[in-house]
Amino acid sequence: MSQDARHLIEIRPAPGKGLGLFTKERIPQGIRVLAESPIISILSNRNQCSSVFRAFKNLTTLQQTEFLTLCCRTPESLKRKVETELKRDWQQIPEIHRDIISIWSANTYVYYMYLLASRINHSCLPNLYYRFNENLDMGTFHAVRDIEKDEELTISYINATNHMKHQRQDDLESWGIECQCLACVDTDRNRRGEENRAKLYDLEQVLTSAPSYKACLQVAEKMAVIQRDEGLWTRDLGICYHTAAYYSLKLGNRKSALKWAEEEMKYNIMCMGADHPDSEEVILIVGRLRAWAEGSTPFHPSIMAWCDKYGY
Ligand SMILES: [Zn+2]
Repeated sequence: MSQDARHLIEIRPAPGKGLGLFTKERIPQGIRVLAESPIISILSNRNQCSSVFRAFKNLTTLQQTEFLTLCCRTPESLKRKVETELKRDWQQIPEIHRDIISIWSANTYVYYMYLLASRINHSCLPNLYYRFNENLDMGTFHAVRDIEKDEELTISYINATNHMKHQRQDDLESWGIECQCLACVDTDRNRRGEENRAKLYDLEQVLTSAPSYKACLQVAEKMAVIQRDEGLWTRDLGICYHTAAYYSLKLGNRKSALKWAEEEMKYNIMCMGADHPDSEEVILIVGRLRAWAEGSTPFHPSIMAWCDKYGY
């Protein structure tokens, strides 16, 4: 199941961005473009520098060589963090260690670092969705829309579904990125896109203070529709579907709960694959919800446990 479509992609120069990953053929929506084992995993924030140096030392010579070719960035904030941990001035730290920690910092996916996936550049309207799959012990990258031949593959480096362009640009400072992505160039379509992001922000504020379950459900439904129409297949969309299912259940509306749980199931399978633990769980829950909605079984307590997952 860890099979991917890496034969359809390759590293090429990406204008203004160094290198990037590009498609050699058209890739349809939902395809697992890449499944990659991390070259380094650091699951704790304690003594992170020492852990990264140790992990680098344990790589093969070839892996070390490839690691050292990746993008290397040293923002001042990183220097200060490293100096605090190692209790030494930046200039006193051996050059190889400065490079290793700068490369780790520029390329890490929170806990994990990959060789090939480190080449994927940012877009505020990405065509790939990344998640770590604990069943496979791999990071997976799925196509969230059809991707044309010779198109660059992108993910979002920031959690910014409802952020406007200037906020996204601020968030991207630490990567030294001046974003020129599909969503950031000034076009009529993007001006509408920015309006929709502002709407999403306002709706999120309404959701936290909505007076009734019914009002919450309506807001979550609206947010889901806007994100889907904008092609914003981020984690926020999955959370919206989940929220809509939750409030449907609170209202005792079995059909609506089933409908939104099914949407979340389709979303999970497309963005992460059916073998992701979250997909396996929602597939099971949808089966139980359907049986309950049809009246063939009593309500299963695991449904409410699943609904409470995001801590409403
Ligand atoms: Zn952008």
